[in-house]
Amino acid sequence: MTAGRLDRDTVLAALRPEDVLSTYQIQGRRQGDELRTGVCPACGPRTRRDAVSINVVTGRWRCLPHGCSGALLELIAGVNQLDIRRDFPRVLEMAAAIAGVTPDADPAEARRVLERRAAEERAAEEARARRQESAMRTAGCVWKDLRRLHPEGQRYLAIARGLDADELITRDLVRFGDAGDVYVALWSSGGEVRNVVRRCLRGDAKVLGWPACPTSGTLVGCVGGIGRGTTVVIAEGVIDTLTACLAWPDAVVLGAHGAAEMPTIAKVAAPRVAQLGGELFICAHNDPPRKDGQPGVGQERGDEAMAIAIEAGLVSTDAAGEPVARVHAVDFGPHKDLNDSYRAGWRPALQRRAA
Ligand SMILES: [Zn+2]
Repeated sequence: MTAGRLDRDTVLAALRPEDVLSTYQIQGRRQGDELRTGVCPACGPRTRRDAVSINVVTGRWRCLPHGCSGALLELIAGVNQLDIRRDFPRVLEMAAAIAGVTPDADPAEARRVLERRAAEERAAEEARARRQESAMRTAGCVWKDLRRLHPEGQRYLAIARGLDADELITRDLVRFGDAGDVYVALWSSGGEVRNVVRRCLRGDAKVLGWPACPTSGTLVGCVGGIGRGTTVVIAEGVIDTLTACLAWPDAVVLGAHGAAEMPTIAKVAAPRVAQLGGELFICAHNDPPRKDGQPGVGQERGDEAMAIAIEAGLVSTDAAGEPVARVHAVDFGPHKDLNDSYRAGWRPALQRRAA
């Protein structure tokens, strides 16, 4: 079989996600149309076994910590360590072998199959949007009903995390579940609850969102709260976000539910900060470098957020031609994140004096 004569659409029409998954023995936890697995086709094994989400109907996949994503051909390329662009004929050949397509297959039939699949995908997407709408309404009710106080949750914040739990409670930034789990809300830019995210005090999963709710949005603060001259802090995860609220008590703190959300938040927030004359601080986790020597995911997404902020005009030059930065990447030195560094005594004012 020569790769040159294989028709891409014909192969795609016949290529079924289930066949690709079984060919490469990709297994994991299945929920509805979603399969969660721990190996990313693009960046390899992840520490979390549910880090990669694969839609078993469409074959689209996404590596949640990194934001790598693609469809079936990208998956086949990744698993075989091929480059989808450079090695495309080889990838297509492999896909054709899985799909059982030969170069003489009928392209008209393939087009009909593709059109039908596209319609199915649109229907699935609409159903997903409806599920998400209703999950968001549920999350809003859950947030209202959570406890304002919980001795165990308060102890966790104060002792394990070195945070002033009373202040967080007084400012209504944090609420608690029945078992003491620490909850924060994920907000739309207009200030509606999109999700509730909790830091679990026990069990395997550390951080959980509400099922079927979106991950995009901002923890604790909302973009709509950015006013003239506001200090804005982008932080990652529940605990760093709460820590930022104490470290910068007057700031609007926008928490990212996962490092991958940081650039998205910067895209929405930075232009507003630039326009309204405020200042932006980016607190990316100091993740260890990856096996291939590339920076850790927190640093990488933080750098991306930084580039977006610069693009939005947060670095300018003064009359003397000196650069004036209104965006700052916060440096935690040897510490792995903002909370670690805060517990070790670091405060924003101290950093500015040192700079
Ligand atoms: Zn990945």
